[in-house]
Amino acid sequence: LVTPIPGPESRKRAERKAQAVAAGVGTTIPVYTVAAGGGVLVDVDGNSLIDFGSGIAVTGVGNAAPRVVEAVSAQVAAFTHTCFTVAPYDSYVEVAEALNRLTPGDFAKRSALFNSGAEAVENAVKIARHYTGKQAVVAFDHAYHGRTNLTMGLTAKNQPYKNGFGPFAPEIYRAPLSYPLRDGGLSGAEAASRAISMIEKQVGASNLAALIIEPIQGEGGFIVPADGFLPALQQWANANGVVFIADEVQTGFARTGTMFASEQFGIVPDLIVTAKGIAGGLPLSAVTGRAEIMDAPQVGGLGGTYGGNPLACVAALAAIETYEREDLAARARQIGDILFEKLGALRDADARVAEVRGRGAMVAIELVDPATGAPDAALTAKVAAAAHAAGVVLLTCGTYGNVIRFLPPLSIPDHLLIEGLDVVAEAVAGA
Ligand code: PMP
Repeated sequence: LVTPIPGPESRKRAERKAQAVAAGVGTTIPVYTVAAGGGVLVDVDGNSLIDFGSGIAVTGVGNAAPRVVEAVSAQVAAFTHTCFTVAPYDSYVEVAEALNRLTPGDFAKRSALFNSGAEAVENAVKIARHYTGKQAVVAFDHAYHGRTNLTMGLTAKNQPYKNGFGPFAPEIYRAPLSYPLRDGGLSGAEAASRAISMIEKQVGASNLAALIIEPIQGEGGFIVPADGFLPALQQWANANGVVFIADEVQTGFARTGTMFASEQFGIVPDLIVTAKGIAGGLPLSAVTGRAEIMDAPQVGGLGGTYGGNPLACVAALAAIETYEREDLAARARQIGDILFEKLGALRDADARVAEVRGRGAMVAIELVDPATGAPDAALTAKVAAAAHAAGVVLLTCGTYGNVIRFLPPLSIPDHLLIEGLDVVAEAVAGA
């Protein structure tokens, strides 16, 4: 992809890489990147690494996606920023229309655009509070919703992202999730009634503005709830005037094999939060939902200087065109078939791989001590390090640090996917 630059420039970059490593910058293992695309990251030393992680931010279209490059280049030459509320532009409206069309639910919708996933989650909660006139919000065990103050509050206690940053926002309550590997095999209906009775006991519906949940939990460990769990929660929310918010920041935009994961779990959220894959890696996020809920806040109550910036909006239009024209949801399902086949063989061969789970191209393995079933975070870190040394970038996750997640960009070709999975199998066997 790139030829490494020899001489002083290369040394300068190598120094910066060493500084980044020393400062602990980067997830799991830092890759000081100079180029990325087609499922490959090129580091400062000229190494090409197979990229099983960057799907988390650029999702389907991958880095350097041609339509995105072209659209952003043209926009940067035209104008980089007005402010949608001061001098509106078409691309914002077109992104909102696309979101209204693509998200589940056959009803009148509106979308509002923001910069980050956390900001969109904050705004979804603001909108739900305004609409209902109530304050309380329920989030779930193992949840991750961001790093701003409100979203840290929504994020589960047992995530590492909160230590030392309190006090957190008030009126947030927590309910138990459906986590089939670790909740004694509760059915979806059983796990939902456990959650609902906890909610009714702790807060009750009368002051409850919203329930927020990730259809498949991301940072918490790619936890796929048992069938029926999400629809039962939604039914309860609908029956009690509680706004049902799906955080699809990680699952949205073809990643799970459908445009949105909600479609696969039989839910039609009142509000859907999206980010990450929406704009090919540019900072954009959105709240999309029922028009009557979205219209509740006063004009000027939502938004900010950069929300729905024109560069991000044209990138989103290019990304959305790519998802649709190239049917990247179907590609995510093909990638998922390969992931499940190869990782399933690994699970069958090695008792430390307790489970392979996920949907489409959002798949993970959970590593345990086979004698006790206890999470094995040390083994997980060892596997990630060994894979990295052999040229594959992996991300770990999970409340207990024992989950390896596979999120290749959907632009990755099969041969790199297979090669990378073989490297992972060797890394597990050798760890
Ligand atoms: N919600 C979920 C489900 C996420 O995975 C993330 C990011 N990992 C966020 C919200 C926050 O998004 P951002 O980092 O863009 O603020």
